[in-house]
Amino acid sequence: STSATPAVRDSGERYRRTELYNVVDGDSIDGVGTFDKYSPVDGSAVASVHEAGDEIVDAAVGSARRALDGEWARWTVAERAGLLRRVADVIEERAEELAAAEVADTGKPLATARELDVARAAANFRTFADVVSASGLDSFLTETPDGRRALNYAVRRSLGVVAVIVPWNLPLLLLTWKVAPALACGNAVVVKPSEETPSTATMLAEVLREAGAPRGVYNVVHGFGPGSAGEWLTAHPDVDGVTFTGESSTGAAIMRAVAPHVRPVSFELGGKNAAVVFADADPQRVIDGLARSVFTNTGQVCLCTERLYIERPVFDEIAAGLAERARKLMLGRPEDPVTTTGPLISTEHREKVLGHYRIAEQEGADTMVGGGIPELGAELDAGAWIEPTLWTDLDNSARTLREEIFGPAAALVPFDTEDEAVRLANDTRYGLAACVWTRDLERGHRVAQRMRVGMSWVNTWYLRDLRSPFGGIGLSGIGREGGAHSLDFYTEPTNVCVAL
Ligand code: NAD
Repeated sequence: STSATPAVRDSGERYRRTELYNVVDGDSIDGVGTFDKYSPVDGSAVASVHEAGDEIVDAAVGSARRALDGEWARWTVAERAGLLRRVADVIEERAEELAAAEVADTGKPLATARELDVARAAANFRTFADVVSASGLDSFLTETPDGRRALNYAVRRSLGVVAVIVPWNLPLLLLTWKVAPALACGNAVVVKPSEETPSTATMLAEVLREAGAPRGVYNVVHGFGPGSAGEWLTAHPDVDGVTFTGESSTGAAIMRAVAPHVRPVSFELGGKNAAVVFADADPQRVIDGLARSVFTNTGQVCLCTERLYIERPVFDEIAAGLAERARKLMLGRPEDPVTTTGPLISTEHREKVLGHYRIAEQEGADTMVGGGIPELGAELDAGAWIEPTLWTDLDNSARTLREEIFGPAAALVPFDTEDEAVRLANDTRYGLAACVWTRDLERGHRVAQRMRVGMSWVNTWYLRDLRSPFGGIGLSGIGREGGAHSLDFYTEPTNVCVAL
């Protein structure tokens, strides 16, 4: 538990059995206790995690504050952008190690960890190096009634100590999506990764050190939400802002925690995303697209579609095509190259998802595919495996179409008119993402803009330009991150007015 101790100590066994420390001011810090992290593949223990008590959280916030007062404050934008680019390089050099850690924590296919999580982590750092380098703010030459002028211009100040709280579904991707712009803007961060996925956030401390980040700009505290590191961090009076990705109800709890200190929040929360498929769409493209948007990462992506509205003339064709794709998904060990689909994150989460499967049955759904726990053989029986599932015969009032499931499951509902499709898709308190499938260009634009969401895709899903705004409406969040939108959250623009 000194600076000589690596933050991650690896035993070298299969499924890495690691010891993960808190990181404060560059030092690895013992917890007040430890908790075990188990693989959702087969229930084996993968890590022993040092849980932060309130004193460690306090020390981490203090370390971030000291970093802000130290040499970091004098780094130029170009120097910070240079750091971000080196971080991206180190992530790529250590890609296999990071992917293996992501796999150990989540059980996701190794290919997904490489191509989605780790590749995007590097891209996040490069993008925000570019964004911060190119950014500027408005200036106004103001004419006053006495015939004189004034110059108004704005400069960005960093927000300060930023608390970063992230979930388990795309751990390194979602963490770096926030840490990269926060550091680009000159902040210092205290991150609290999910208790389900503590590894890559800890390894990022080593990556940042190797890339040359000053001590204390990146601190890690491990633990849970209420009564643990999450609550202590968000309630800490010396935190200047909280950026959070996770469940909507957790966002509400964090809002209450920050309210007494009146601090800005950026929330990327849950979704109940719709796809609207018109009869003129290319059926093969639709089936490929829906198979991705329903089943990627075992349905554990906030952007996944759980409600599929399909124009009646093509309903049977699309449903049959998608069901065939669902049956062909290969559940299995993450290292097996034929595996397409991993387990859910934990057996606890599986209980929640199975609860939704039972509700769908009680609501009278016709289960086209799946609906239960697969039999994969003794070795994997202790894992959190679940069958990809598709339902029909439900209407929009069903809980199955109203509550976020966060698993590999979707309900298919027919529609007859464009207005009806828009009404059904918008009939939700969430508002994260939507997909529109059509070959009619005008209709594609029109319907995409009528969706009450933060992001609409036409004839694709999860195609991201990291400069574009990302976030949700309603229960799906507060604020936007991405490109210059991130700079707006991670800085305080200050206007200077000079009488000329
Ligand atoms: P979660 O809300 O349970 O946990 C997220 C993080 O918050 C974890 O680190 C957890 O320990 C912490 N936490 C929990 N309670 C807390 C509290 N009271 N105070 C402070 N911290 C607390 O979410 P999850 O189950 O890890 O992730 C799944 C959810 O995340 C889904 O709802 C999904 O839609 C959402 N999500 C949203 C986006 C997006 O960009 N909109 C992206 C990914 C996931």
